[in-house]
Amino acid sequence: CGIVGYTGRNQAVEYLLEGLQTLEYRGYDSAGVEVVGADGALHGVKCAGRVSTLVDRCQTANLVGTAGIAHTRWATHGAPTDKNSHPHRDCSGRIAIVHNGIIENFRELRSYLTRNGHEFASETDSEVIAHLIEDAWNGPYQGDLVSAVRNAVRRLEGSWALAVVCADAPGEIVCARNGSPLVVASTKDGAYAASDVTPLANVTSHVIQLENGQVARLERSGAVTVFDEEGLVVDVPTAVDVDWD
Ligand code: GLU
Repeated sequence: CGIVGYTGRNQAVEYLLEGLQTLEYRGYDSAGVEVVGADGALHGVKCAGRVSTLVDRCQTANLVGTAGIAHTRWATHGAPTDKNSHPHRDCSGRIAIVHNGIIENFRELRSYLTRNGHEFASETDSEVIAHLIEDAWNGPYQGDLVSAVRNAVRRLEGSWALAVVCADAPGEIVCARNGSPLVVASTKDGAYAASDVTPLANVTSHVIQLENGQVARLERSGAVTVFDEEGLVVDVPTAVDVDWD
């Protein structure tokens, strides 16, 4: 339902939770956040219920880090439970994803992945994405999160807006979009991603709307690079200035 992402010079969690609050108007049943910790591991909190419940639980969690992703879920596959809340991790616990939309072929992908040794922690359609990225990362795309994500989404049918972090690519967020909306923005304080412009209202007026099939890399410096389906860099002609009135 709702996605927020940030990587930059500031701590991520405060902005991520505020961003989720601005997306509450869309409706949701669960919420979660994942930060790439200063200690080199992922740290997350997620739960069914209100964003305010998530905010409370984050008080006692160790969410120190300058890159992270967050989600409000509107369940389509799998009941609204803590475990089915996003973000979802791969088996190694080094990769985490948030997803809006529906993966139509998740049953086939899940049985394929299960046969190949993957263990699933949720009943969602979304979790297959984390495991597909894990396979790509452990295969030919180690060290190249953009290519690992591009390779994974090639196998998906359905709709997705996606934000991905990897503990072994700290400071990086990779986004992908097909069907479900996703915007990204580059600022001097860092790079942002969101499922609509509301979390960016106090951040920037210069927003890039990703198009279907595109993948974007967000870096701690604030740099945003957009790639097309072939992996070629796109000269973002889609950048638009949002008039907040
Ligand atoms: N289909 C996914 C799920 O049920 C994502 C739903 C959403 O867009 O929030 O977890």
